Amino acid sequence: MAVTPTQVADGVHVGPLFPRNMFNTVILEGSSGDVVVDAGPPWSGRRLARFLQGRDVIEHVVTHAHGDHVGSSAWLCNHTGASLAMSEIEADDFEHGSINYHANRLGKYLVAPMGRKRRTVDRRLKEGDTVAGFQVLAQPGHSPGLLAFWRESDRTLIVGDGPINLSADPTSPRWLHLPRKLHHDPTEAVASRWRMTDLEPDLIVSTHGYPVRGLDRWVEGIRTVAH
Ligand SMILES: [Zn+2]
Repeated sequence: MAVTPTQVADGVHVGPLFPRNMFNTVILEGSSGDVVVDAGPPWSGRRLARFLQGRDVIEHVVTHAHGDHVGSSAWLCNHTGASLAMSEIEADDFEHGSINYHANRLGKYLVAPMGRKRRTVDRRLKEGDTVAGFQVLAQPGHSPGLLAFWRESDRTLIVGDGPINLSADPTSPRWLHLPRKLHHDPTEAVASRWRMTDLEPDLIVSTHGYPVRGLDRWVEGIRTVAH
C-alpha cells in the first residue's frame, strides 16, 4: 500500500519519506495555502510529488540547512512554485556557501553533501515570525539557526531536531541514539531542547521519527538521548 501523510493535529499532516519516518515532511494547512516544512534528503522528490498533488503549496519552510532536511528543497520549490523560507542565520550559507554545520566527520562527509542543490531564499525567518499560524522559535545548537514552530492553542510543537522516536505509538516512544557530535554545538543543542520543554508542548511533531504525545515522555527522551 502506498505511503500517505497522516493528520496528527488540526491542519498538520506528517508525510513519511524514506526510510519511513526516519525523515518526514510536514504539511501545514494555512489560511492562504499550504506550507511544507522540510523536504528531506535528495531522493525524496517522488514521494513529495505524490503527497503534494492537488495542494496549493505557497511556501516551503526549512527548520535548518542540514543536508537531510534541505536535500530536496530546491526541487520542491521548482515543482510547486512555492517560495523558500529559512533562518536568517543560515539563508546566505544555503544560497551560496557551506552548510557543514556538524561537529563530526559523519555529519561533514555524509549529511552535509546531501544539501548540494541550492536556490534563492525568499524569506529570512527569525524568532517571533509566523508560519501558517505557528510562531517561529529559535532553537540554536543542532545547527546555528535551527527553528521550531509553536502553536499554543493546541500546544503543538514542530521541530527539526529532538530525540528521535522510532515507535509509531506517540504515547510509547522508543528512542534512537545518535552521536552527539552530529550536532553543530552539542552543549547548546541540549540546552535549546530543555528550553523548548518550558513551553509544555502536548504534541511534538518532528521531521525525524514519529510524533510524541505528552510532555513527560518527550522530557524522558531529552534526558536519555544526547542527539
Ligand atoms: Zn540536522
